[in-house]
Amino acid sequence: VLLPALTDPAAAERTALRVTSPNAGEVTLSYRELAAAAGRLASALAGTPPRVAVWATPTAETAVAVVAALLAGVPAVPVNPRIGERELAHIVADSAPASVLAAPGAELPPALAELPRTDVALTGDVAAPLPEPDAEVPALVVYTSGTTGPPKGVVLPRRAIASTLDALADAWRWTADDVLVHALPLFHVHGLVLGILGPLRRGGTVRHLGRFATGALAAALRDGGTMVFGVPTMYHRIADELGTDPELATALAGARLLVSGSAALPVADHQRITAATGQRVVERYGMTETLMNTSVRVDGPPRPGTVGVPLPGVELRLVDDAGHPIEASDGETVGEVQVRGPNLFTEYLNRPDATAAAFTGGWFRTGDMAVREPDGALRLVGRRATDLIKSGGYKIGAGEIENALLEHPAVAEAAVTGEPDPDLGERIVAWVVPAGPRPDEAELVDHVARLLAPHKRPRVVRFLDALPRNDMGKVLKRALDGRQHG
Ligand code: ATP
Ligand code: MG
Repeated sequence: VLLPALTDPAAAERTALRVTSPNAGEVTLSYRELAAAAGRLASALAGTPPRVAVWATPTAETAVAVVAALLAGVPAVPVNPRIGERELAHIVADSAPASVLAAPGAELPPALAELPRTDVALTGDVAAPLPEPDAEVPALVVYTSGTTGPPKGVVLPRRAIASTLDALADAWRWTADDVLVHALPLFHVHGLVLGILGPLRRGGTVRHLGRFATGALAAALRDGGTMVFGVPTMYHRIADELGTDPELATALAGARLLVSGSAALPVADHQRITAATGQRVVERYGMTETLMNTSVRVDGPPRPGTVGVPLPGVELRLVDDAGHPIEASDGETVGEVQVRGPNLFTEYLNRPDATAAAFTGGWFRTGDMAVREPDGALRLVGRRATDLIKSGGYKIGAGEIENALLEHPAVAEAAVTGEPDPDLGERIVAWVVPAGPRPDEAELVDHVARLLAPHKRPRVVRFLDALPRNDMGKVLKRALDGRQHG
């Protein structure tokens, strides 16, 4: 059973969900109320082929809609409410939803407004529970973030969701007593699978803030929150504000666990948070296709700059360019991360070729490059497609250069790319958002050469007002190349 607390009489009066919505104020649902609202909608949905779209605003209605689809065994396709027309047209054509579930009053774009619509009610009568669908039945179709190319529809069975959430519970000692506070979007696996289904599978509580604000985060932590999920851009904001906001520091110091994921957490931000709160930020690494692969464990050492160790049940290997596994734990030898385990997706929707290409001998190729540290922790150095720079005979990961740049006080944000160079093959380009007055280029270059190694120094430094980022705060490196600078 994916969500046992929905039918557990002992859980009935516990708070499942508390969501602050821009329009509706604050909505609180107990497990009994959630089971009733989702149960009623599920009865209406059961048998709807092949899929149902969910207009995934940061509201209680989104959670109820997804839970209802899970109860009915109808795959849900969460849709970004700020999606552009072209991407929406692609998702609607690709996933062919029979109908769309949305909060009452939510205005839908034309491509979704054409579909039959069901308004999600937050009330219902306790319905007779539907039979639990088989573990391999698709539960969700989640589109990837589109960081490296057009988003792909990832078919996730119930088995993958249950196994990843139980593995995280083991690594994080996550229980029914935890109140998870976050403000993540609900159309990617981070916010939806980890951030909503995670607490619900444990029988604990989700406190969704609607939108991210450090004041609301501190208030929710003072009000009983125990865990925080965020993306690095949120932790960056927190790190910036900690210096001038002692109440935020006190609130964070009282939390049981802070978790970061979706992109690399700069070591400099991690260190600022630890200095001000005494807390570490636990990093975990996953993808839409694999859900979670690794995490720093709460019973293990804090490891800034690493994403920890494979989660229970996950087999993970590093593979060199020739396809041979790398056994070394030297913190140096870079290989592609490949994984195998019950956390994996079934297929890319309508893309058998892409699915086949993503696997090699049963292992999923993540496209992420990493090294193994001597203690076994994995350190990601970047993505094969955009972050691996081949310069002067070396293979250099963008991530460590970005971390080094961010340690310089004059740097607010940094991204590193490679571009063709007649002598070096590729030259290292640093894209820098200054923290104040524009710093001296030579000083930044020397700073990296001193911290890392001379061959890792940027050959070109370009200044920008802001880095192009997507909804998860991921830097869109595709958009950097060829960008005007001045
Ligand atoms: P697309 O596949 O469409 O290009 P995407 O890979 O960004 O987009 P997601 O599935 O949402 O889509 O993101 C997974 C990727 O996010 C991973 O492959 C990895 O590169 C990155 N990632 C996730 N967690 C971390 C982390 N803790 N540190 C660094 N990178 C991370
Ligand atoms: Mg990807």
